[in-house]
Amino acid sequence: MFSDFFKGLKSLFNGHKTVMKQAFQKRVTLEYPEKKRDVSDNFRGRIEIVKDENDKLLCIGCGLCKKVCPCNGVINIEKQTEENGKLHIRYERDEAQCIYCGNCVENCPQKALKFTKEYEFATDVKSELRKIV
Ligand code: SF4
Ligand code: SF4
Repeated sequence: MFSDFFKGLKSLFNGHKTVMKQAFQKRVTLEYPEKKRDVSDNFRGRIEIVKDENDKLLCIGCGLCKKVCPCNGVINIEKQTEENGKLHIRYERDEAQCIYCGNCVENCPQKALKFTKEYEFATDVKSELRKIV
């Protein structure tokens, strides 16, 4: 009976020792979403379709991003050229299907796509994840 009592006491002591040890360690978790951690420069967040200083898309509608994309139907590009040579691009990405592999960003000859650090775009309205520019 005494041996059980001392075993229990020892285990209680060990449990408290572990708790006290951890209580004074540096925390590895954050109180998200009030506090947020800085993400790395290589972070693959929401993909931005880049425009120049005149608000013109850098995209030339070559379609390479669509070709290298492993997911069918994520990217759709419509391209029209006016008689005066002016180019109109309609670029559509479905963020709900994208797996953020980065193939499109890496292979774009115009550097017209780039990863941002944005990761808070979860929604229960799927259509909000279709980005059209
Ligand atoms: S690869 Fe770049 S330039 Fe070509 S269509 Fe895609 S975004 Fe536009
Ligand atoms: S990141 Fe990958 S899956 Fe997403 S659009 Fe680009 S190529 Fe397709």
